[in-house]
Amino acid sequence: MSRDTAHTSSSTLACYAANITTSRGRRFPEPAPAYRSEYQRDRDRIIHSAAFRRLEYKTQVFVNHEGDLFRTRLTHSIEVAQVARSIARALRVNEDLTEGIALAHDLGHTPFGHAGQDALNACMKEFGGFEHNLQSLRVVDELEERYAEFRGLNLTFESREGILKHCSRKNAAALGELGQRFIRNSEPSLEAQLTNLADEIAYNSHDVDDGLRSGLIDVDALCAVALFREQYEIVRNKYPQLAPRRTIHEVVRRLIGCQVIDLVETSAARLADAAPADIEAVRNHGAPLIGFSDSMREKNLELKRFLRTQLYRHYRVHRMTAKAARTITELFGAFIDDPRLLPDDAYAQVSALEQREGMNGRARAVADYIAGMTDRYAIAEYERTFNPGI
Ligand code: MG
Repeated sequence: MSRDTAHTSSSTLACYAANITTSRGRRFPEPAPAYRSEYQRDRDRIIHSAAFRRLEYKTQVFVNHEGDLFRTRLTHSIEVAQVARSIARALRVNEDLTEGIALAHDLGHTPFGHAGQDALNACMKEFGGFEHNLQSLRVVDELEERYAEFRGLNLTFESREGILKHCSRKNAAALGELGQRFIRNSEPSLEAQLTNLADEIAYNSHDVDDGLRSGLIDVDALCAVALFREQYEIVRNKYPQLAPRRTIHEVVRRLIGCQVIDLVETSAARLADAAPADIEAVRNHGAPLIGFSDSMREKNLELKRFLRTQLYRHYRVHRMTAKAARTITELFGAFIDDPRLLPDDAYAQVSALEQREGMNGRARAVADYIAGMTDRYAIAEYERTFNPGI
């Protein structure tokens, strides 16, 4: 097997797939990898990163200590990768690139899920704000320290393009070529587009599962949602004697399945119609080529609305959310007022960025430190910082 044929056979890729021959390359040029494609190398670097391992102890919806069976950011990311790879393979686009984007998409998430992100964004208001998506890019571009010759992971343009799902125009302007699409309103690769929707399929479905397991939502209430009800009725009719737990699992797997099938078929039809010649034609198409049918999009929205009002805003989730927000806000306040409270490594980063960028730099480095924390590390740091008894 030669080096050239060892990796994914690019001859089976569709013409509009990301392909190393049309890649915009890495920020710091490197020799080609042996026995791997460039996108496999990206994926491998992501898996070896510290930020990836921390995902194990970061909240998806339920805080880590609330139960061992709930999704964490790590299991969520793996589920996204699995869903996204199936879609990529079905559409003959680049599965390696897709997998890397999926595994990296939440690397910038703060502890405590969206509550943590919102709190940190509020803390950073005067200093340029905090976007978890932009932070994922910052992790792979700047914060990981693993290689002798560059900061970050030096990923390909296509991986970085996929990681940066959204970005304000103001921040986009500072990102050079990568930010251009938010200014010109163009699209990212198909691999990026489909991973974004695989993320939605994964979290809608697993939040139903986790929500039911937690007892915060129940099957009767969920039956108000068409997408759930349809699959539930199929399962009940086919297996009327099935125990409740297995019934739910059977419904959840079908929830994922029907969304994936809809997405693949709708996207395949759009691609056949538009016939983009290559990845540049995808980027300049003027609208996303990956998407759900209208009816599936509607059903999806209905499920999302249900989860937002019934699960994410449930008082028990909200209590944890409020505690999380206080933890983040108070840690930020203490560290920005007195960086000498920080451990040596973090203090060194704060001093270095402050020297370059003044108070904005100080705040950014404090935000990097806090965003990098796992849930349990944040809780422990809070105790160590504010509890005089320890
Ligand atoms: Mg996600």
